[in-house]
Amino acid sequence: MARIRFQNVDKKYPNGFHAVKDLELDIAHREFVVLLGPSGCGKSTTLNMIAGLEEVSNGELLFDDEMVNYAPPHRRDVAMVFQSYALYPHKSVFDNIAFGLHMRKRPAHEIERRVRDAAKRLEIDHLLDRRPSHLSGGQRQRVALGRAMVRDPAVFLMDEPLSNLDAALRISMRAEIKELHRAMATTFVYVTHDQAEALTLADRIVVMCDGLVQQIGAPDEIYERP
Ligand code: ADP
Ligand code: ADP
Repeated sequence: MARIRFQNVDKKYPNGFHAVKDLELDIAHREFVVLLGPSGCGKSTTLNMIAGLEEVSNGELLFDDEMVNYAPPHRRDVAMVFQSYALYPHKSVFDNIAFGLHMRKRPAHEIERRVRDAAKRLEIDHLLDRRPSHLSGGQRQRVALGRAMVRDPAVFLMDEPLSNLDAALRISMRAEIKELHRAMATTFVYVTHDQAEALTLADRIVVMCDGLVQQIGAPDEIYERP
């Protein structure tokens, strides 16, 4: 289960910059929420607060009914995929996907099964022995998705995961991410500045501007205009 609630949350960076202002947001278990807005409006900051990578300055962040303001990233049941794939260049695809499971000291047979299941779903099971440098951008991003998937997190966080891909791949991978959401039956929070991406993926879109929420609604509520 993972319902995520921001209650009057502010984020001020140490230099005094007020990046997120009085955020009220209630994300339901299994919902796909897209944070949409121009560069610098506070989307990544919001996502990073969910991940525990940035501290909440004011207000409360809750996972289900638990206040997590002070919980470090490894105590939160979240996995994150970034725009840059952040793969280990000297490890094989298999070991890149397995890394988090090794860290958690999962038994070898379980690691093997989970990695192969994820790789199959993402159609990279023929690439498990390769190094990341021998993969295309789309394949690398699938490895990053696989690494997040195998941890079976309650919350999936994605920060512009498709931005480094070419236009055609971006469109085909939208469908894959939507399918992943269906298959994993868990909560997704996804950051993008791409309106079309938000429209295809979201159950609800949160439009942000200058650290403030401007609009929240289903895609048709936000974009249906006479
Ligand atoms: P977005 O994801 O919408 O592009 P960010 O959340 O990354 O926006 O950043 C929001 C604002 O906060 C930007 O103006 C950015 O420069 C600023 N910011 C981000 N990180 C820091 C930081 N560590 N210190 C100071 N300001 C920051
Ligand atoms: P994006 O817009 O893709 O989210 P940015 O290029 O804004 O990323 O930020 C990349 C990194 O730099 C982040 O870790 C962010 O916290 C940090 N950062 C962004 N703006 C500032 C800033 N004004 N001062 C210090 N760090 C910043």
